[in-house]
Amino acid sequence: MHKNFIANQWVSALAGQTVPVIDPSNGLLYAEIARSGEADIDVAVRAARAAFEGAWGRMAPAERSRLLLRVSRALQDNHEELARIESKDTGKPMRQARSDAAAVARYFEFYAGAVDKLHGSTIPYPRDYTVLTLREPHGVTGHIVPWNYPLQIFGRSVGAALAAGNACVVKPAEDACLSLLKVAEIAMEAGLPAGALNICTGLGIEAGAALSAHPGIDHISFTGSPQTGQQVALAAAGHFAPVTLELGGKSPQILFSDADIEAALPVLLNAIIQNAGQTCSAGSRLLVQRAIYADVIGRLSELFRGTRTGPAGDDPDCGPLINAKQQARVKRFLSEAEESGVSLVAQGMLDPNAPQGGFYQTPVLLGDVPPAHRLAQEEIFGPVLAAIPFETEADALRIANGTPFGLVAGIWTQDGARQLRMARAVRSGQVFINNYGAGGGVELPFGGTGQSGYGREKGFEALYGFTTVKTIAIKH
Ligand code: NAD
Repeated sequence: MHKNFIANQWVSALAGQTVPVIDPSNGLLYAEIARSGEADIDVAVRAARAAFEGAWGRMAPAERSRLLLRVSRALQDNHEELARIESKDTGKPMRQARSDAAAVARYFEFYAGAVDKLHGSTIPYPRDYTVLTLREPHGVTGHIVPWNYPLQIFGRSVGAALAAGNACVVKPAEDACLSLLKVAEIAMEAGLPAGALNICTGLGIEAGAALSAHPGIDHISFTGSPQTGQQVALAAAGHFAPVTLELGGKSPQILFSDADIEAALPVLLNAIIQNAGQTCSAGSRLLVQRAIYADVIGRLSELFRGTRTGPAGDDPDCGPLINAKQQARVKRFLSEAEESGVSLVAQGMLDPNAPQGGFYQTPVLLGDVPPAHRLAQEEIFGPVLAAIPFETEADALRIANGTPFGLVAGIWTQDGARQLRMARAVRSGQVFINNYGAGGGVELPFGGTGQSGYGREKGFEALYGFTTVKTIAIKH
């Protein structure tokens, strides 16, 4: 039984209840986590407040920096174990889990280095004044983490919040939280003071809702679905807490006829099968200029057919989806494709040894999807790519911007002027030209617009979000 982590202690949920943990590769129960409620969240928020007002809050920036660097090194030392836990818990292939374990250590390294470089400013004003600004932490920050990338999303949000001097209360997803409990243990052993980091596991509608509504929370960072994000923002508004929302997308990859197709193809495939398509920034719409459409779809089909889906432990191209609900959701979208005559152009292979109870979905390429169809409008969150032909640059832009989302866009063209025209016109928080994802990019600000959310995480920008500015005007 995995317990909550509050003030550097392992404690059961006060009501004594638990939530089962299922292995997505075989559908079998293999652990239990604490089922926290309002009372547990309250204890965690109080512990965080005490840390913020105590040893953690008073720590000098250089010391906080060294401490977070120690946490980063300890995370690196435990890299393989973190990856193993993450892979089993989420169903992601070991390769991906290793990259996530490396990323969480890198986030702590990056933000450790930034702690004592987060300056305020002085402001020119009449001579008999001196005006300056201080960047101050919010206080106690809440972090609601989804199941798709627990380590990475924890790293980018909690790493930055701690670096800015906040004390954190984390509610991981009920479907995947074990790696974060391990991170807490590692951070405690590396010397993080009691209460700086607290983790309460449990259900979204119980522990997550209690965290969003708790008046002791000064800022909330949420990653997940637009519907839940909206509920979190409404609850936080009840006590005027600012919110950062990262809500996913329907990100377009736009391939013009002058693109380096050879270089693009493996990137296009990876952008939709990585983490079985359960990635907020998945390249889930492929816009291809008509002149090369047939060629690109033909070559991409071969790549799709060559993918192998299987249990996480076998390190396949594509692991299982997270749970039965997510599997049913993806299957519903695929049935709709069939009913509305959208053609399934290619599909990957399922490993014949994949356990029956696992939540598998092989990668699917859909052709000629009408841009207004649900399959081209909604986040499926599975390895399903909607290919859409277009004629002109103006068409490409209209289709790319024609969803409620705006998280990431990929533009593939050799024409420099078009690269910049498109990059500036596309509605998106990040734009990649002749690449996609830039290998993760801990340093690169990330976030969306519209239904993809608001606020920025990653990079230095995140530190601004986890601080508030105080202006001091001195008359002399
Ligand atoms: P969700 O948004 O409901 O869950 C995300 C996190 O929010 C989890 O930690 C959950 O426990 C918590 N939560 C749930 N209800 C809550 C509430 N009322 N108050 C506070 N916290 C709450 O997502 P889901 O149900 O796991 O997945 C549904 C869909 O969301 C997916 O199919 C996918 O489209 C999308 N999703 C997107 C991302 C992303 O990275 N953008 C991540 C996960 C899911």
